[in-house]
Amino acid sequence: EAKKQGGNRAVFFSQELANQNERARLIANNLVQALYNNEYYMVYQPVYDLSNQKITSYEALIRWESPLIGSISPVEFIPLLEDSDLIVPVGRWILRQVALQVKLWELEGYNGFQVAINISVKQMMHREFLNDVKSIIQEAKISPRRLIFEITETVAVQNSELATQILSDLNHLGVKTALDDFGTGYSSLSILKLLPIQQVKVDRMFIMEMEQEDNKSLVILQGIIDIAKNLGMSTVMEGVETSEQLELLKNMGAQKIQGYLISRPIVAELAIELQKNTWKY
Ligand code: C2E
Ligand code: MG
Ligand code: MG
Ligand code: MG
Repeated sequence: EAKKQGGNRAVFFSQELANQNERARLIANNLVQALYNNEYYMVYQPVYDLSNQKITSYEALIRWESPLIGSISPVEFIPLLEDSDLIVPVGRWILRQVALQVKLWELEGYNGFQVAINISVKQMMHREFLNDVKSIIQEAKISPRRLIFEITETVAVQNSELATQILSDLNHLGVKTALDDFGTGYSSLSILKLLPIQQVKVDRMFIMEMEQEDNKSLVILQGIIDIAKNLGMSTVMEGVETSEQLELLKNMGAQKIQGYLISRPIVAELAIELQKNTWKY
């Protein structure tokens, strides 16, 4: 009986594995097509500044709607783009797309905010990266000051000298740099003094843990907020979903918040409507 069950389980698992492999293969095989068929698109999530009660930036996030596979999360396909080096052309497409959107908004009279773009390690380390950034900004005829480039801690861990150089080159071009998902990796606080960054985005894990009792996370979170502030960096709290979290964060002196409480990531047309929003948090 036990043997029979075990046998069934093995069949079940191998079927599941086969399905997973099939899906991964399907996704991997469609990454390039998706680019040519216009299946990728960008959505924008507002970042709200508590100090002036305005949306002071938006984060651009990629989406993929495949007619074959359905909608696929960037958590699933960004790593595949990285593995296959396709992150370079797709990353370039993202940059162009966002630069164009910034220009379009500007033409409509909306220019009082910045737009943040996620940059993957491989994309940033590519030899043509800085040239691409320069020429895309020039082609779109936008000010580099309108852009923020977000990178994760792994960048610094993997190749800190080169990363520091590229980030500082970006700063010289006039774009702002931000450290994304801060506090989840293995790096220490000293990364904040090592890297030329102007903004720290605190991972939503801290916000999720905030309301637990006996809270070490709360102490650490307060520390991060204070240290970043004293280093002259702005802070963004990621994943704020409830007004209780918002109240706690206000009391802690948090500066900027991003999360479903303010808005989910939405298409450009809807995102810009939020500029007219009179809601104050
Ligand atoms: P990220 O850069 O940390 O982006 C924030 C993620 O948190 C987004 O997920 C966003 O939809 C989600 N989020 C925002 N507010 C809330 C909230 O209140 N609650 C919860 N549960 N989630 C919230 P998304 O869009 O699925 O992106 C996931 C990750 O994929 C991003 O994390 C980023 O690392 C990567 N990614 C997304 N778009 C791009 C892109 O254009 N280029 C690159 N290189 N990576 C991207
Ligand atoms: Mg990000
Ligand atoms: Mg993040
Ligand atoms: Mg993240």
